[in-house]
Amino acid sequence: MALGANIDDPVQQISAGFAALAALPGTRVVARSSLYRSAPVGYADQPDFINAVATIETTLAPHDLLEALLAIERAHGRVRAFPNAPRTLDLDIVLYGDMTVHEPGLTIPHARMLERAFVMVPLAEIAPDAMVPGHGCVRDLATRVDAGSVARLLRVPV
Ligand code: ADP
Ligand code: MG
Repeated sequence: MALGANIDDPVQQISAGFAALAALPGTRVVARSSLYRSAPVGYADQPDFINAVATIETTLAPHDLLEALLAIERAHGRVRAFPNAPRTLDLDIVLYGDMTVHEPGLTIPHARMLERAFVMVPLAEIAPDAMVPGHGCVRDLATRVDAGSVARLLRVPV
C-alpha cells in the first residue's frame, strides 16, 4: 500500500491512514515505512507531499480493498478537483502478492510505481525482497529512481 498527503496536516493524515488500514475488516498492518517528504509531481504549485508505504495482510480481494480505500479517502475529505491536485489522503494498491490485475479502474502492480521515488524508496525500506511481477525485486528496481528526490523524516514534526 502507498499513502500520500499534502494538505490539512499531511503527517497526521498519513498516521490516520495507517490506523484506517489497520481497522479494515480482515486486515492487519504488518509493516510500515518511515515517512518521506517529496516535491509534488505534475502540478508543481502546491505543498510538498508526505509519503509512506505499508505492508498489509488482508482477506479482502483486490476490488474490495480498492473500494475500501476509496471510502477511507472520502472520509478524509478528499475531493478530486483535477488530476494531480492537492490531496488530503491518497491510498494506492502498489502490489498485491504476485497478482497482476488489468481492469478499468484497477491496475496492479500500480501503473506508475516504478518511476515514483516516493513509492520505491519507502518500499525498499520495508520490502526489498518483494517481487514486482515481470520486473524483478524491489531492491534492484529502487536503484533506478532518483532517491535524492525524497527525504526521510528523521523525527516526525508534531
Ligand atoms: P493517483 O493515485 O495515481 O495519483 P488517483 O488516486 O486520483 O490517482 O487515482 C484515481 C483512480 O485510480 C482510482 O479511482 C482507482 O480506480 C484507480 N486505480 C487504478 N489502479 C489503482 C491502484 N492499484 N490503486 C489505487 N487506485 C487505482
Ligand atoms: Mg490514488
